[in-house]
Amino acid sequence: MLKPDLVFVIKTAGLYCALAFGFSIIGIFLPEKVHQVNPLYSFSAEEVLGHILWGLVAGAITISLRYFLLAGSFAILVDSDHLIGLLNIESVSRMSHSIVFGIISFIIIMSFFGKKNYLLGATVIGGLLAHLSFDAFRGNDSKFPIFTPFYSGMIHFPHVDWIFLQVAAVAVIGFATLLTRRKTMKKTEQ
Ligand SMILES: [Zn+2]
Repeated sequence: MLKPDLVFVIKTAGLYCALAFGFSIIGIFLPEKVHQVNPLYSFSAEEVLGHILWGLVAGAITISLRYFLLAGSFAILVDSDHLIGLLNIESVSRMSHSIVFGIISFIIIMSFFGKKNYLLGATVIGGLLAHLSFDAFRGNDSKFPIFTPFYSGMIHFPHVDWIFLQVAAVAVIGFATLLTRRKTMKKTEQ
């Protein structure tokens, strides 16, 4: 029972990581680019664990190991955009912390791993929201280019926003869980 779930999580998370890094490459071509710090120097265990925890909390509402682990994975892998810093070049920081990336990853992950699986799609969006929540929680004034690549100026999020972002993450995944449950209940009734 456990193995198919783990395989699914690893495959989906792997594609998500590639997408977040791939999307960050667009930042090289945008006018707002700045020099990128090597992520190996800015790495912090507290940040990694915090992101995973926030994602797991949002995913727990599904009461499904698969989506619980996926939400934790997506929530940390949003930061795969930091890998662009390994190239020692100029780019827009935190490209994946954007609405456009949320939509693109939602579409691509669902088309690869479950076309009508809205719970999967909701976990992608919830993972991103949980990620932004922890970033806001850690900083006093976090900023993300949430409209990039259309507008790559940094939008500021005050500390208190972490609560709204995390509530939104739980709500999105919770709503999809309810819908999915109702669908399967209807099917078994028939
Ligand atoms: Zn981040």
